Amino acid sequence: MKQIQHLIDNESVAGTSGRTSPIFNPATGEQTGNVALASASEVDAAVASAKAAFTEWSEVSIARRTKLMFAFRNLIADNADEVAARLTAEHGKVTSDAAGEVARAIENIEFACGVSEHLKGSHSESASTGVDVYSVRRPLGVVAGITPFNFPAMVPMWMVPNAVACGNTFVLKPSERDPSAPLFMAELFCEAGFPPGVLNVVQGDKAAVDRLLAHRDVKAVSFVGSTPIAKYVYETGSASQKRVQALGGAKNHMIVLPDADIDMAADSAVSAAYGSAGERCMAVSVAVAVGDAADPLVDAIKVRMEKLTIGDGADPASEMGPLITREHRDRVAGYVAAGEAAGASVVVDGRDAEFDNDGFFLGVTLLDHVTPDMTVYTDEIFGPVLSVVRVGTYREAADLIADNPWGNGAAIFTRDGGAARQFQQDADAGMVGINVPIPVPVGYHSFGGWKDSAFGDTTIYGPEGIHFYTRPKVLTTRWPDPAGSSVNLGFPTNE
Ligand code: NAD
Repeated sequence: MKQIQHLIDNESVAGTSGRTSPIFNPATGEQTGNVALASASEVDAAVASAKAAFTEWSEVSIARRTKLMFAFRNLIADNADEVAARLTAEHGKVTSDAAGEVARAIENIEFACGVSEHLKGSHSESASTGVDVYSVRRPLGVVAGITPFNFPAMVPMWMVPNAVACGNTFVLKPSERDPSAPLFMAELFCEAGFPPGVLNVVQGDKAAVDRLLAHRDVKAVSFVGSTPIAKYVYETGSASQKRVQALGGAKNHMIVLPDADIDMAADSAVSAAYGSAGERCMAVSVAVAVGDAADPLVDAIKVRMEKLTIGDGADPASEMGPLITREHRDRVAGYVAAGEAAGASVVVDGRDAEFDNDGFFLGVTLLDHVTPDMTVYTDEIFGPVLSVVRVGTYREAADLIADNPWGNGAAIFTRDGGAARQFQQDADAGMVGINVPIPVPVGYHSFGGWKDSAFGDTTIYGPEGIHFYTRPKVLTTRWPDPAGSSVNLGFPTNE
């Protein structure tokens, strides 16, 4: 059984806390390893390593930092299949999803390769007589990242490349449920030639997070995970004067207007609701069918669901894999039961699907006639369950989104440009799709929701990532009148 350890000072370091957590292959239900869970002193060692590396790293030229980032990018690309295989083995997502995740991770590294452009300052010549003013952005020091189980390779790359390209050093605390892929990527980071201490990985749970939040030498924290923990991390980290960005959970709505291309909307709903078993923060979990769109939409989704192949993510035939743990699978099934008991119509019941092994599988569920008071609507389920809410007008649909406490993504399906434009303005969410169900921004824009989907005032990666990992320094300079200089600058003299 594999033992997953920390990475400190570019070396694998065995855990000493005596605490571990089991790792499972969700497709078989078998335990495949254990991950060390750090104590406060192990976190302290990682932070000390990052602190010791900071001054020298922050002075490394932009040219060198860029070269190292390109080398890292190429190593990830060369090892993409291995990263993806580790994702499937511990998360359960199918190989094509895993490959897509690695591609999005690479996109974020590529953005950081352009750090020479991103860190250009601004300069005002002759702000006053003989006075020039210029602004630069300086790194913060040691920064930390705490990441969720559902994108164990991509989410760390929302953070690490930009942070280190800006001259910071990093301590990553990946999810304890599927830590092998981020650890492997960190090993490739070391292999690329980054000096010891620039990126350290501590494996762990709440104890590690709490120590990072309290540590005086950690200057900023990026967090991605569920809303209650995001709020806790934001409040605790900022109470100890850290800069914190904390992205939380979601309940993403997709409005389908009566004029929409129903086939396109149904294809999108199926891939966005059931892809990665619904364990995506940008998954669509509510389809809001307006007027006459409802019946054809529900029929078209149902037909597509019946064709989905669910199985081991490593099998190329599988289109959806298992859930992350047995407990989570049972919790999701419990929501389906609660929806049914509350009066929703169960069009397709994922609990009926049969699987011939002990993996954490659940079939796909479609609930119709869901109302906003049901727990299937109010809670983030994070599983393969799509709820259809029927409304009479576009306005009712937009109001549902506005009244929802979360505001990560929202989408509309329509052929009407005016309706789409109106939705762009009305959508009470940070990321909006027009005939695009999962509007995750490309790496050169930034990612982040509104309301309970994000705490803090900067979103993550892209230009806002550069902003988060740097602070401004403004220099005002004045030099004596050159005519009086001891260096002969060619000015006429009185002699
Ligand atoms: P989680 O909140 O349980 O865990 C996230 C991280 O916090 C992990 O590293 C975990 O070890 C740590 N953690 C867990 N409990 C903690 C506690 N009590 N105190 C301190 N730290 C703790 O989330 P998860 O289950 O790993 O991931 C799924 C959640 O993440 C979903 O809610 C999903 O919507 C959200 N998510 C959001 C985004 C986004 O961009 N907004 C992206 C991916 C996932």
